[in-house]
Amino acid sequence: MRVGELAGLVWRDDCLACGRVDASPAVEGLSLCRGCAADLRRVPSRVPGPGKLPVFTAGMYGGAHRGVVLAAKEQRRADAVRVAGAVMAGVLRHVVAEGLLPDPRLAPLVLLPAPTTRRAAKDRGGCVVRRAADVACAELGEGCHVVSAATMAPSSRDSVGLGRGERAANIAVNLRIDPGSVRRAARILRATGAAACIVDDVSTTGATLSGFAAALAAHGLTVDAAVVVAQA
Ligand SMILES: [Zn+2]
Repeated sequence: MRVGELAGLVWRDDCLACGRVDASPAVEGLSLCRGCAADLRRVPSRVPGPGKLPVFTAGMYGGAHRGVVLAAKEQRRADAVRVAGAVMAGVLRHVVAEGLLPDPRLAPLVLLPAPTTRRAAKDRGGCVVRRAADVACAELGEGCHVVSAATMAPSSRDSVGLGRGERAANIAVNLRIDPGSVRRAARILRATGAAACIVDDVSTTGATLSGFAAALAAHGLTVDAAVVVAQA
């Protein structure tokens, strides 16, 4: 057996998104099959968002998109967080091309990870959305910043299983803005052409996006767009 074949066997693994075994992963050293990689590279789309906030998604919550989110959140796979971040970066580039966000090389772009409960973040080895945002930020390069401006109170409920009204109420009551972080974001956003974008893994009812945007607005910070990995 040649060394190349041996290496192929060593790296051969279940696709992190669909579980299918693929002897030739789409990306070297990453357990992602070619089919899922192709799905995740599809052109992002704009989805009906809350109010006037433009919301863009890499895809609907199913197939590869769902697989990546679950692998990152439930299985706590670091490689899935990397993929989620890369997908997020792809959507952000699309929104930049649409002219709704600045090219970070030309004007600062602030990514604002949607808040999760500290408990959920702890259970999941650190906030998945924040970590994916860090990956996306690194891909977009200098001029891109990540600011965690809010958390959810420890008493808040995980949004899974909650209806639209319950989600909105949960966020209204439990979202905690960190004024220091908002001031830091505001300082960056003073630059000409700068913009802010909320990032999240999944948007279901849009309640988190609208609640977070409203809370930031109450602190004087305007959000220009929102980007999610998947729209449920
Ligand atoms: Zn796959």
